[in-house]
Order: sequence, then structure tokens, then C-alpha cells
Amino acid sequence: MSQPQGTIYIVVAPSGAGKTSLVAALLQAEPDVELSVSYTTRAPREGEVNGKSYHFVDRRQFEQMIAEGDFLEYAEVYGNYYGTSARWLRERLAAGRDILLEIDWQGARQVREVFPDAIAVFILPPSIAVLESRLRGRATDSEEVIARRLSEARSEIDLVAEYDYLIVNDDFATARQDLISVIRCQRLTASKQLQRHGSSIAAMQTAR
Ligand code: GDP
Ligand code: ADP
Ligand code: 5GP
Repeated sequence: MSQPQGTIYIVVAPSGAGKTSLVAALLQAEPDVELSVSYTTRAPREGEVNGKSYHFVDRRQFEQMIAEGDFLEYAEVYGNYYGTSARWLRERLAAGRDILLEIDWQGARQVREVFPDAIAVFILPPSIAVLESRLRGRATDSEEVIARRLSEARSEIDLVAEYDYLIVNDDFATARQDLISVIRCQRLTASKQLQRHGSSIAAMQTAR
């Protein structure tokens, strides 16, 4: 039985829409999906572990990695660089792994240029008012940062037509199930199933 080539899932959301929480819930439910750990120049937040949340590097190191072509994509988000390791991703895909990228909309566009089959998911808040209250409730950002993220959110929501799937994160359990369903659907497409079960399907076709 041949190993199917892995699928890339790109998850994008305005800050505060619940992307981090939903992705964490998905990874618990579907341990066969691997999360790409991005490189960033931003300072670690409390509780963030180097190599787990992000690979934390300084600007000089990041710029050297850009020059060496280490990134599949990178972007500047809220004044810091973020990027996805090209080598790690290609190795895991070749091993048949499904990969999830939690990146911003600029990175999503770059990845889809290289991998047009990547599945892009956009997570929406139920309203801007709810988004604002979640950002406040999380209590990790200053008022100025919250205002900036809300204004960015409006422009990001203008881009929803670029995505394959839209999930509204109103009730968390529903949104979680929706995200899991996207992955399950994708695994059931005929092309993936033929890769996975090709020989047994061929055997049934010839057994007349
Ligand atoms: P984002 O990735 O665009 O959302 O950028 P943020 O600045 O909003 O990053 C999310 C951060 O919020 C994470 O690093 C968490 O430390 C923090 N956070 C606060 N509350 C939660 C929560 O309920 N779940 C998760 N997963 N993260 C949370
Ligand atoms: P993001 O990574 O998109 O910025 P988080 O996962 O950090 O978002 O979520 C932002 C805040 O909203 C967190 O405090 C989280 O606990 C909360 N949250 C996420 N989803 C829901 C939901 N469906 N209902 C209520 N609160 C939520
Ligand atoms: P945070 O610093 O709050 O964790 O993330 C800020 C933003 O950067 C989020 O929109 C997140 O999706 C994005 N981001 C995280 N890693 C990457 C990455 O590797 N590439 C790109 N383009 N964006 C990223």
C-alpha cells in the first residue's frame, strides 16, 4: 500500500478569533496532524517554550535565514518577522504527514503559490464586538494593541473569498467539530483514498 503524500492545512484568523485554542483542540483530537513550529523575532510570552510555541530567534538570525532561503514563506506581522521552515515541511510531507500551518494571511498566499493543493481555512469571530471582548478577556494585549488588531481584523475579513473553508467560532465545541470535519473530509476524498487503499480497491475490481 503506497503512503499518501501529506496534506497542508493553513489556518488563518484575525487575532482573538480563537485560532490558537481551536488548533490546540484539533491536535488533541487528531494526533496524526503535525503543527509546524514557526520562527519568530517576537519575544516569548509567559508560558511559551522555545521550540514548542515558536523557535525564537533575533532579527539578525532571521535575516540570515531569509538570505539562505530557509523559509517557505515569511511575513512581518505587528512589527515582528514570522516564517515557516521549508526544509521541515518538505520532509514531513514526503513522510506522508498532514501538516497544519497557523500563519497569517500573507503567509497563506505565499504557501498556496508553492502548494496550490493546500487547504486554507479561515476562522471568523461571530462579530467584531465579540472579537473585541475576547481580546480584552484574554488580557495579553494593551488597549493600543487591541485597537490595532481590531482594525486589522476588518481588512482580514475582506479576504474570506480566498479560503476553501470558513468556520465561525461562536460556540467553541461546534467550531472545534467543524475544524475536525475539514480534516476528515479531506482524508476521504477519492484521490486520497485511492492512494491509501489502492491495492485493495484494485483487487475488488479484478475479482469478478
Ligand atoms: P494570534 O496568534 O493572532 O492570536 O496572536 P495573539 O497575540 O492573539 O496570540 C495568541 C496568544 O494568546 C497565545 O500565545 C496564548 O498565549 C494566548 N492565549 C490567551 N488565552 C488563550 C486561550 O484560551 N487559549 C490559547 N490557546 N491561547 C490563549
Ligand atoms: P487567537 O489565537 O485567534 O488569537 P485565542 O485562541 O487566543 O485566539 O482565543 C482568544 C480568546 O478567546 C481566548 O481567551 C480564548 O479562550 C477565547 N475563546 C476562543 N474561542 C472562544 C469561543 N468559542 N467562545 C468564547 N471564548 C472563546
Ligand atoms: P502571535 O505572535 O500572536 O503568536 O502571532 C501573530 C500572527 O503571526 C498570527 O496571525 C500568526 O498566525 C502569525 N504567524 C505565526 N507564525 C507565522 C509564520 O510562520 N508565518 C506567517 N506568515 N505568519 C505567522
